Amino acid sequence: MADDLYDAIILGAGPAGASAAILLSQKDRRVALIDGATFPRKGINAGWLNTRTAPLLAELAVDVKKLLKHTFSEVTFHNEDFSKSAKPKFDGTAGYLVDRNELDNALVKRAKACGATILSGTKVREIQLGESTVSACFEDDTQVEGRLLMLAAGRATALLNHVGITHGGSGSIIWSGQVDAPLPKSAGKRESTVGVVLGLDRKGSFAMYCLSSKWTSVTINWYGERSGAMPAFLQICRSLYEQNLLPDNLSAQAAASTLVSCPASAALDMDSHVGKNTLVIGDAGGFVSAASNEGIYPAMWSAQIAAGVAHEAMSIDHSQDALMTFNTQWRLQMADYLRSPNTDAQFLLPLIFSNQPMADRMGAAFFSGENI
Ligand SMILES: Cc1cc2nc3c(=O)[nH]c(=O)nc-3n(C[C@H](O)[C@H](O)[C@H](O)COP(=O)(O)OP(=O)(O)OC[C@H]3O[C@@H](n4cnc5c(N)ncnc54)[C@H](O)[C@@H]3O)c2cc1C
Repeated sequence: MADDLYDAIILGAGPAGASAAILLSQKDRRVALIDGATFPRKGINAGWLNTRTAPLLAELAVDVKKLLKHTFSEVTFHNEDFSKSAKPKFDGTAGYLVDRNELDNALVKRAKACGATILSGTKVREIQLGESTVSACFEDDTQVEGRLLMLAAGRATALLNHVGITHGGSGSIIWSGQVDAPLPKSAGKRESTVGVVLGLDRKGSFAMYCLSSKWTSVTINWYGERSGAMPAFLQICRSLYEQNLLPDNLSAQAAASTLVSCPASAALDMDSHVGKNTLVIGDAGGFVSAASNEGIYPAMWSAQIAAGVAHEAMSIDHSQDALMTFNTQWRLQMADYLRSPNTDAQFLLPLIFSNQPMADRMGAAFFSGENI
């Protein structure tokens, strides 16, 4: 396999990389999809998706009905001490609760079914950009070569430096942590619900809790100093239990969890997402919504645009010129979605709890990337 030249080597088999692999394989391109992890990944890893994800998953021809079976239409916004709440209205479904491992596994399985070669279980340590090819070198010293590379290795990947691309410095860092647990049998059958606790500090930090018929989860997104994030996470887990919003107190699990830094909407601050024979997509390219720290749909969306650009580039002689169009194409389509709402959320906060149209607009901003 190491001697074969692929049309595209895709580094990272998360939602971005696996989606790109499916779309290019569907166009009969020879694709190697690489990940240090092995699939299927196991265990619950709860997440939410917006409604725009359904047509995108349909284009990838995965089992949309199965993956998106946990719809939610009930959302509650709370203030930081739970003394106020508001329920935004949505036209039907607000979004979906998904098991991330189930989603990622389904995408990788589909990529394989479409003809992509899955190279999993060994990490890439180095990328070499040649004149007309790109090589990914594994930790076991084997390598794989392609005409172009899609870098989809997730947030904070050091491999960006290997392709001469850096994150912009001005985006805000969000400290994120998540705990999930199976729903206890005693909780009985229930509709999927989602709550967002707003205004945890003056910087816009928020927490989110989700209850599907199978699991519960709490996520914190903290815009302040790292030192403040864990105490806030533990407190919110305790409060959600005390307020009877979750059946379990997940603070012990939270204390054992690791916080990670997410460069929210960093894509907007980056000069370019195109290196020599390389496109950067998903979290690696900072494609994360500033309003909600949502990244799965933006990762898949950036992959969809990149796959179209890459296919076009491989069909013509001056492929680097064609690759460069990725920079304008994603900005035209995605920039508004990724940008922070152009209103100070802190100023809006009291209105959300006193004015239904304002709660509805906050719901649309949070779950559909619309501006307030
Ligand atoms: C706590 C938390 C909760 C979140 N919850 C949500 C949510 O509910 N909804 C939502 O939309 N977004 C959520 N996000 C964001 C979302 O998880 C990411 O935006 C999304 O996973 C990005 O997809 P990706 O494919 O770009 O990267 P990833 O999913 O990170 O995939 C990157 C892949 O690259 C592989 N890789 C990395 N380096 C190497 C290497 N050197 N060699 C080989 N393989 C490598 C990794 O193993 C990984 O599989 C959350 C983020 C966090 C931190």
